[in-house]
Amino acid sequence: MQSESCDVLIVGGGPGGSSCAWGLQDSGLDVLILDQATFPRDKVCAGWITPAVTDLLNLDLSDYQKSHVLQPITRFRTGIIGGAAVQTEFTQTVSYGIRRCEFDEYLLSRCGARTRLGEKFQSLERTENGWLVNGSLQAKVIVGAGGHFCPVARWLNPEKRSEHSVVLAQETEFQLTPEQLKVCRVQPERPELYFSPDLRGYAWCFLKDGYLNVGIGREGEKQLSAARDEFIQFLDLEGRVPRGILGKFKGHAYRLYGLEKRSVVDDRILLIGDAAGLASPQSGEGIRPAVESGLMAADVLQQCQSSYHIQHLQNYEQKILDRFGPWPDKPVDSILPARIRQFLGRHLMSTHWFTRNVLLGRWFLQQHLPPLVRS
Ligand SMILES: Cc1cc2nc3c(=O)[nH]c(=O)nc-3n(C[C@H](O)[C@H](O)[C@H](O)COP(=O)(O)OP(=O)(O)OC[C@H]3O[C@@H](n4cnc5c(N)ncnc54)[C@H](O)[C@@H]3O)c2cc1C
Repeated sequence: MQSESCDVLIVGGGPGGSSCAWGLQDSGLDVLILDQATFPRDKVCAGWITPAVTDLLNLDLSDYQKSHVLQPITRFRTGIIGGAAVQTEFTQTVSYGIRRCEFDEYLLSRCGARTRLGEKFQSLERTENGWLVNGSLQAKVIVGAGGHFCPVARWLNPEKRSEHSVVLAQETEFQLTPEQLKVCRVQPERPELYFSPDLRGYAWCFLKDGYLNVGIGREGEKQLSAARDEFIQFLDLEGRVPRGILGKFKGHAYRLYGLEKRSVVDDRILLIGDAAGLASPQSGEGIRPAVESGLMAADVLQQCQSSYHIQHLQNYEQKILDRFGPWPDKPVDSILPARIRQFLGRHLMSTHWFTRNVLLGRWFLQQHLPPLVRS
């Protein structure tokens, strides 16, 4: 394998890794991204992003949508699986639908870093001045951005293999034929979200410029395929999507933030995005935390002035706590106690006020959260 060196090695070229590299563009640091995939690569995801993400990344939306799917969202259809649905309309675009195979490649190609793609991260050794990765790559500092199964995160949290706070999810995305489009009742600007009665998960149908994305995710679920099949039956019964078109689903996982403590920094190493377990505990939104943590890491790395010892990197941990909130002293089961969840499921989810202001406005769109201020 070719021998190479860099200042910052980012393991993972998803939205977290590419945002970190983009944030380091003018820093004078030599940044290299290592990813086992070659891009474009797919990522199991519903593919909705909030305007906070496009603003933070300075995305030129009119340029992006010339050759990529960018579906504005102005309405939602929500409910409990098997129950009545509520419609909520907003006066402006509150979110966008993207395809991850396009979005991630776009971010990676404009991030300004060198890349080493199609190469798996396999080994890590400390050296006098930093790290030796895969026996051939020298780096002064490593950013673990390898997603939920990030090997750098496993290295930093070897004892914490708990599946507590992990959501298992399945998704399928494919282009509808013109005939299927005619009978599909999911509207492009109005994604549909259906919660399980215990509020431990939800399922969705999302039509993005002719691409249908259907999926389901549940906290700590062992029988996810059974829950998925029930959801497909519900969609059939309600006639939301053309019958019999939902084929093979792909699975993945992510960790919800704030339910148990994780290490995110050590000497010359830090974690961002799903590797750090930052997905929103209410909605599972993970792209925004990945982008925000990538940019926070970039800011801290620049302030380190080439000294990546833990006392300097701890500033990054503090930024994570300030932005996403504290970790509990011991693992907690859920942000919401079971009785409150049942009450929400039975009563509040069918009211327009709760759906607009809490479920969508606060939990899904996080409209209360101020934009990230970079230092
Ligand atoms: C079904 C599902 C639906 C979701 N829907 C949404 C949504 O609609 N909106 C939203 O905001 N979030 C959603 N999420 C969460 C979101 O997908 C993640 O939070 C987000 O992708 C995290 O970005 P990341 O850059 O941290 O990691 P990733 O996007 O997972 O990127 C990690 C990269 O690391 C690489 N990598 C991994 N291991 C290695 C290795 N050993 N060596 C080299 N490279 C490696 C991978 O190839 C990959 O390119 C969803 C998640 C799931 C599972």
